[in-house]
Amino acid sequence: MQRALDILNHTFGYHEFRHHQADIVKTVLAGQDALVLMPTGGGKSLCYQIPALVRDGVGIVVSPLIALMQDQVDALLQVGIRAAFINSSQGAEQQRLTEQALLTGDVDIVYVAPERLLTDRMLDILDRAKISLFAIDEAHCVSQWGHDFRREYQQLSILHQRFPSVPRIALTATADGRTRDEIIAQLDLGSAAVFVNSFDRPNIRYTISEGLNSRDRLLSFLNQEHAGDAGIVYCLSRKKVESVAEWLSSKGKIALPYHAGLPVEVRQLHQQRFLREESVVIVATIAFGMGIDKPDVRFVAHLSLPKSIEAYYQETGRAGRDGQPANAWMAYGLQDVITLRQMVLDTDAHEQFKRAQHGKLESMLGLCELSSCRRQALLAYFDETLSEPCGNCDTCLHPPETWDGTQSARKALSCVFRTGQRFGVNYLIDVLLGKDNERIQNNLHHKLSTYGIGEEHTGVEWRGVYRQLIALGYLTADLEGHGTLLLTEKSRPLLRGEQQLQLRKQRKTEKTRKEKTNRPQVDLSEDDDVLFRVLRGHRLSLARERGVPSYVIFHDRTLQEMAVRRPESLAEMGEISGIGEHKLEAFGESFLELITA
Ligand code: ADP
Ligand code: ZN
Repeated sequence: MQRALDILNHTFGYHEFRHHQADIVKTVLAGQDALVLMPTGGGKSLCYQIPALVRDGVGIVVSPLIALMQDQVDALLQVGIRAAFINSSQGAEQQRLTEQALLTGDVDIVYVAPERLLTDRMLDILDRAKISLFAIDEAHCVSQWGHDFRREYQQLSILHQRFPSVPRIALTATADGRTRDEIIAQLDLGSAAVFVNSFDRPNIRYTISEGLNSRDRLLSFLNQEHAGDAGIVYCLSRKKVESVAEWLSSKGKIALPYHAGLPVEVRQLHQQRFLREESVVIVATIAFGMGIDKPDVRFVAHLSLPKSIEAYYQETGRAGRDGQPANAWMAYGLQDVITLRQMVLDTDAHEQFKRAQHGKLESMLGLCELSSCRRQALLAYFDETLSEPCGNCDTCLHPPETWDGTQSARKALSCVFRTGQRFGVNYLIDVLLGKDNERIQNNLHHKLSTYGIGEEHTGVEWRGVYRQLIALGYLTADLEGHGTLLLTEKSRPLLRGEQQLQLRKQRKTEKTRKEKTNRPQVDLSEDDDVLFRVLRGHRLSLARERGVPSYVIFHDRTLQEMAVRRPESLAEMGEISGIGEHKLEAFGESFLELITA
């Protein structure tokens, strides 16, 4: 462990391990298998990189994304670690050289894609090489239920059979229990130590609004909070992607479109520019983002509703990987809801799947309509409890207007109860409104005490009440069944009249309001900020010379600390977080000169 700590300090330039990193490293160093569930930006990489350096032999990292390997390897090379990758983007000679280095132990970490790893040739090389560990990154790819299923991942259990003494560490940022169980089963990780981190991303500020003028509001949000920042704007359709990108460009932003309908070269170019330049805004459908490792994405904006809370969490999670403050901003219109519902209906999937998708969409809407802390609800969806409201979401910062919904909620719940917990929202609303239709007649529900007792609200308002009741956990949508609403244990005191309930007022229009800015934690004075910009400029030219993204040189956080502390010697500079020995030697002098000047 002392060696591990030394590497953390001297090679990576970090002062201490965070979250479960130390325990994970210890586990793998002891030769035991580990399963690591940590949110994006949590620091998963160090969990296998450091043990790979401490243990004898070469660490093999299985990674699904060939496009990312280059950047991952570049980042390791910059801190002085002997890293390489083997994939089809290279020439045969380069591949042979890396294979050779693997056999002679002249490399510490090698990245390979699963299909390459599983070839006879590669397995044969691994038989003859000394392997320190296998890291299986993005391990949720084994799951058929997940979003990035990769067939080859399911064959990775072969590693255990063929190399029983080599520890394996599987890592993912996917939170749900079903995927976790599948990873354990598929990868034969039954005896692995499991480390589950909180999935909270405290540096991300969640803001959700309904209403009009979303495009204009996006622009003022960008101008007020993110001038010069890199970020992603998600839209539902390709057409909207193009029009929004064009419009933002006309307003002076560097905004590039990205969707599956664009030629591959254009997509690649835009992705490269987003990764390599600063201040690029990508306007995209959800085709963009899988495996985007850029740590300094400062905002993710949604101009439409994601199709589920899982998708929302994943997409917004691309912001702020570096732990610095970031915004997850969303404006959605009723039209999105209609379009999304239609998209579900139009798929060929079987009924049960469609109902599940509808249920997920309703939960997402529930999150939008909350009047309590969004982060609490988001984490609760992943079975995690946050004991206090977060103070860093829109409902915490600007509590929405509420109304006493106690009576309405009781009517809504008792209508569920009286109809036998066998119906969905539309039917229940018809009963409350006293609609005269055949289905109601056939069920004799026009005789119920709740028939026609809800005329004080419109159908749309009742829909809002039901969604909030779902969001707050008084009702659950039976996803496997018929979109049926069921009462939960929590609904009893409310039904019995022992509890009051405040509901959120539906806003007709959304006023633009001045948001409190969510700026970096390091407090930069005006002077420091000038210096920070100068340092950033220098970083950019270093990055260009080397053909790597800026963050591979130094993260913003490191430059900010430099600007504030203004080190006067290399020794002082070396104390800054994120500056290891290799980077100190490579870049320290030139940054010192700038600071002195
Ligand atoms: P993940 O793969 O979990 O999304 P990364 O491994 O890319 O996250 O780490 C996210 C960021 O946090 C990186 O910039 C990394 O250098 C930084 N980081 C990781 N561990 C530490 C630590 N112990 N101290 C400071 N920064 C860290
Ligand atoms: Zn909150």
